[in-house]
Order: sequence, then structure tokens, then C-alpha cells
Amino acid sequence: MSEISKLTHPRVIDGWFREISDEYFPGQAMMLRVEEILLAEKSEFQDILVFKSTDYGNVLVLDGIIQVTERDEFAYQEMITHLPMFSHPNPKRVLVIGGGDGGVLREVVKHPSVESATLVEIDSTIIDLSRKYLPGMSSALDHPKVKICIQDGFKFLEEASEKFDVIITDSSDPEGPAEAFFQENYFHLLKSALSPNGIVISQASENIWLKIANLKKLKNICEKVFSQVKYSYCTIPTYTSGQLGLMVCTDSPEIELITPSRRVSRKEESALFRYYNSEIHTQSFVLPTWADKVING
Ligand code: SAM
Repeated sequence: MSEISKLTHPRVIDGWFREISDEYFPGQAMMLRVEEILLAEKSEFQDILVFKSTDYGNVLVLDGIIQVTERDEFAYQEMITHLPMFSHPNPKRVLVIGGGDGGVLREVVKHPSVESATLVEIDSTIIDLSRKYLPGMSSALDHPKVKICIQDGFKFLEEASEKFDVIITDSSDPEGPAEAFFQENYFHLLKSALSPNGIVISQASENIWLKIANLKKLKNICEKVFSQVKYSYCTIPTYTSGQLGLMVCTDSPEIELITPSRRVSRKEESALFRYYNSEIHTQSFVLPTWADKVING
């Protein structure tokens, strides 16, 4: 590739990738400096861009929105996985909807109790590109406990007869193929696919600094379906405003979402995880006063 084609893309100007969305974050933008564009194509479902950044490793962008960077992905992948996995006393069967990069699976299979982890990804291009450009995330795609299904996650749930202990929705944002994952029907489908003490977690697409009213709306939707709904978040520099919200739900009175029901030793914890620990599990549900009033008030 010539120096010019290495950096030529409509979203890259003067060597900087710009994430701009009037829908999600009007009046502000995230920029990352690009070293090289590795892949730019349109799949059947979305516009895909993969580039090597100067400071955040390889970056996956879908429909103009940053999905993962090699430098900070562990924050999100660990929190969306280990919050429900450590709240559940014995998670054996796990379902991941979306998540074709493989990062969530990498975290799921760290739990020895897991017997099977099913990934339902709509776009096989994401799996292929992850194997090539995101090896630190895609390694678990070939794990013996992992089953991969190339299908729409909503349809998969409509047809599913299997029950799961934990279901993780690691989807892209509501505009595009993941739109259905933010509506009430979807949470009913999740509930019917859960085993008795089952837990679901979804990326909430927002955080308290962006459209906080959307978080409240999503929480209200979840509360129509589940008896326990809690809002948590992780900090991560490359999601806009440096945070991403997570909605955790269960219908079981025996499950404590805020407190881990299992712990590993401090030594094992720090060997296994870079972000998650049993204190951050609990503290990640604590919100600043104004946000707590809106979301939990
Ligand atoms: N961590 C990311 C975030 O919050 O920005 C999400 C990353 S992950 C790559 C999102 C995945 O969800 C994409 O690979 C996308 O193809 C997949 N996806 C979107 N809609 C889907 C659907 N209806 N069924 C299954 N997978 C879907």
C-alpha cells in the first residue's frame, strides 16, 4: 500500500480517525491517530473499518463507531463478562449475542465451571477479521467449549429451546443490526432463555454523560421484564466520554447482582484479570448523586 492509500478513508482526515455522531454524542468527537488502514469494506450488515492506531493498537470501527481497541478492550470485556459470571453461583452454559471479536469469550472460558459457551454473531466478516487483526481477542474462538453460530441473535433466541445460566449481549449500538436488542421484546426473549437462577447483561450503548434519559428508558424496559435490574459501568477511554453503561438483570430472588457470589484468591484474581476484581464488582454500581437520582430514583 502506498503512503497515501494507507491513510485514505472518508473518516480519516489529516491522519486522524474521527468518530462523529450527532445521534449519540452531538457536539463532541473522539479522534485517534491512524498509522495504517488495514481493512475498509461494507459487509451485508455494516460498514467496517480496521486500522492500526499509533497509540491504541488495532482498532475495529463499525458504522463509524469504535467497537474495540487492543489497548483498552479488556476493561469492557472483563466487566460485561465477570459481573454476571461472578454473581452466578455456578455458571455452566453461557450465551454471547454479538461479540464476534471473541473478547467476551476469552473472559467466559476463564471460569472452570463453564461447560459450553455459544456465540451468536450476525456477521461472519467480524470473526474473520478478528482472527487476522485482533489475535488477543479472537484466540478463544477456537476454544473446545465454544460453539459459533452465524445468525441474528434475536432470531436465535426466538428459536432457542436451550436454557442458559448467563446471557451476555455484546452488541453494537441501536442504529443498525443491533436495534432490536434495546427493545422490550428482546428482554422477554432473554428471560425465556434463562435457567432458574439465570442472569443477563447488556451493553447499554450510553453512559451518564451522554443521553442519560436513554439509560433510564432502557432500565424501565428491563424492569417491566425482570424483578432485579441494576445499572453498572466501566471506564474505558475510547468509548465516548470514557465510560460505557451495562444493564444487569435477573428474575431470581436468590441472586445478588451487586455482590459476587464466588471469589478467587487475590493472587489468582490479579493473574487472571487486569480490570475486574471483587471490589470493583460492587463499586461499579455506585453512581454520582445526580446520575443516581435519574437512573435509580
Ligand atoms: N464492545 C462493543 C461495543 O459496545 O461497542 C461491541 C463489539 S462487538 C464487535 C458487536 C458485534 O455485535 C458486532 O460484531 C456485530 O456484528 C454484532 N451484532 C450486531 N447486531 C447483531 C445481531 N442482530 N445479531 C448478532 N450479532 C449482532
